[in-house]
Amino acid sequence: MLIIANWKAYIESVEKGKKLFAAAKRLSAKHEIVLAPPAPFLGILAHGNRSKVSFIAQDISRTTGGAQTGENTAAAIREAGATYALIGHSERRAMGEDNALVAKKLQHALAQGLTPVLCIGERERDAEGQYLAFLREEIESAFASLSQKERLQVVIAYEPIWAIGKSAAESITATDLTEMVLYIRKVLADLLPGRGASRARVLYGGSVEPENARALAQGSGIDGFLVGRASVEPDSFAALVKAVTV
Ligand code: PEP
Repeated sequence: MLIIANWKAYIESVEKGKKLFAAAKRLSAKHEIVLAPPAPFLGILAHGNRSKVSFIAQDISRTTGGAQTGENTAAAIREAGATYALIGHSERRAMGEDNALVAKKLQHALAQGLTPVLCIGERERDAEGQYLAFLREEIESAFASLSQKERLQVVIAYEPIWAIGKSAAESITATDLTEMVLYIRKVLADLLPGRGASRARVLYGGSVEPENARALAQGSGIDGFLVGRASVEPDSFAALVKAVTV
């Protein structure tokens, strides 16, 4: 599985980051582990990395360099050692990032050879199923200006906002996740050539913990997880990874 550890702003010391990186290396034999440190620590940990663990930026700039104070461009992120970029995380969208900006960032990431992980997810579920149209729109608008070849590189992270930062008990059920993955692949089938939709990597994020990881992984059709809180303590992250190791 592809398991992304989103450290958000939980990690504020290099020492802690190094400990988590060392622990991740021990977990990377059977899974692709990708770490998302805060930007100041990305280069420190990722530059010259030769381990099986990979790195992902939590966000990239809307700009492509030059006189842009405070920006972390896709080129600089790649140079720092990341190979992936999270795009459109709900915590960025909450700061005003819209679908148009998400589409632009996807292009910047791809232009620099970073594999984009496109985050989508509804704020809440309505009985009429409007949230399904909302998710379709998030995917379609992100893909609109990409070539077929570029679209095939995008990883989708389905992260319902109502499930983020809660507990395993309040997370999505395995049954609902299975339905959502089918729906996302159906949307992708209209946008990707050939067998692209079945081959696309679809992840789930939102209160994945050691307690629910196995149930969510089994038979739901997902290719991995995007993990927040449970990824910032070595013990809980190790327990989560072990839970999905058969
Ligand atoms: C996230 O915000 O990407 C996330 C998955 O967070 P958590 O695991 O803490 O719900």
